[in-house]
Formats: sequence, structure tokens, C-alpha cells
Amino acid sequence: MYVETSTMTSERVRRRRRVLVVEDEPDIAELIKRTLERGGDLQVDLAMTGEAALDKATEFLPDAIILDLNLPRLDGLEVCRILRSRETSATVPIIMLTARTSEAERIRGLDVGADDYVIKPFSPRELAARVRAALRRVKAAEADRGDIEVYKGARLLADFDAVAVSVDGSSIRLTRREFELLRFLIQNRNRVLSRDRLLERVWGYEHSIETRSVDVHIGRLRSKLGTAGDQIETVVGLGYRFVE
Ligand code: CA
Repeated sequence: MYVETSTMTSERVRRRRRVLVVEDEPDIAELIKRTLERGGDLQVDLAMTGEAALDKATEFLPDAIILDLNLPRLDGLEVCRILRSRETSATVPIIMLTARTSEAERIRGLDVGADDYVIKPFSPRELAARVRAALRRVKAAEADRGDIEVYKGARLLADFDAVAVSVDGSSIRLTRREFELLRFLIQNRNRVLSRDRLLERVWGYEHSIETRSVDVHIGRLRSKLGTAGDQIETVVGLGYRFVE
């Protein structure tokens, strides 16, 4: 296989991670947003109700979720349970906000799949530190999963060490970017990857690239892969998934 070299832009801006904050008290929600966004590496979306949170989580895949347990109507425990039951948000870090008095609620929250909890009233900086710790754990887990050197499917053979890709025995020419895109999709096979995550992990820190260009690259990669191209599925509204 032949790999073209590509030029990287020198001016780089780190893509921000998206955190969904579910909190019905506007003052607290705004305080969390301000604190988390101060570092410049996190972008916060707010949802005031559990229903709104579930809607938002289908519009985009948050990198982490801060979830108040005491919400009107659909409470935080139910929201957590539903998020965990969905394939797309099954492993997103969820940090619960709970009242000091409700130990039973915290235990139930951990039982339905929350990763961590912070007790109200809380220090916003501590909450921010917990969010960053959760994001680091995800990153480490992704790196562990990435250890595959050769992927062998029914038609597709990808040797990441040798930088060689073939379909039905014929070698395929990919650009460096297409190769990295394929590698990241395969490393995370059977998981939905958002365009934002693909941009961050495959393109790195380029500032000017738009999420639409992910679609263009995916389209080209799919067509080059020919009969194996349909292993890259479009997940409407969310992103892409490499299926085995
Ligand atoms: Ca509340």
C-alpha cells in the first residue's frame, strides 16, 4: 500500500470535550458551566430536565455527563438508567450530584451505572477535577483497546504495523488520513464514534477543519474499501461505527 504524506497546520487548537450538565437550578447550572469552561478545554451544554437531557444525548454524544439526581418529573436515577440502556451512551462517564442526606440515593445511582458522585453543596473546582479525571480514564481505556496490530475481517485485511490494507486480496491505496481514520474506527469497532471525537483523535488539533470534512473522508474511505466499505456504518445524527 502507498501512503501519501500530508502537511499539518502549524497553528493548532485543541478540540474541546463536550460535557452535558443536567441541573434544574439555573444558578447552579451556570456556575458549573462557568467553572468547567474556564480552562478552555471543555464545552458545556445545559439541560434543565431529564427529558431534555435524553434528547440532547441523542443529538450529540457527550464526553461526560453531570447529572443532578433531584430533578422534577423524570428524576436523575431514571435518566441514568435510560442513558446506560442505550448503546451509544452505555459507557459515557456520568457524575451524579446528590444531597448530603441521601446515601441510599447515591448507592442506587451507582447501581444504575453512575461512575462517580459529588455531594451538594460542592466545590465547583472539585467537580471540574472529577470531570477531568473521568475523561482521562476514558482516554486510557481507549488507548488500551487500541493495541490491535492486524485486523482480519471477511474481506478486509488491515496491518497497522506494516501500514498495509487489502480487500479481497487486492492492496488498497489510502492517504495517511484515511489510514488513520480506518485505524481509529477499527480500534473502536462496534462503538459509535461522533464526528467530534473522530476529528479530535484522527485530525489532532487542527483548528480550521469542519465536522463535515469527516463525512467527506469517510465517503472516500468507504468507496476505496469497495466490498468492505459497508463495514463503516453511518449512525444517523451521531456519527460512525465500524462493524465486524
Ligand atoms: Ca435539582
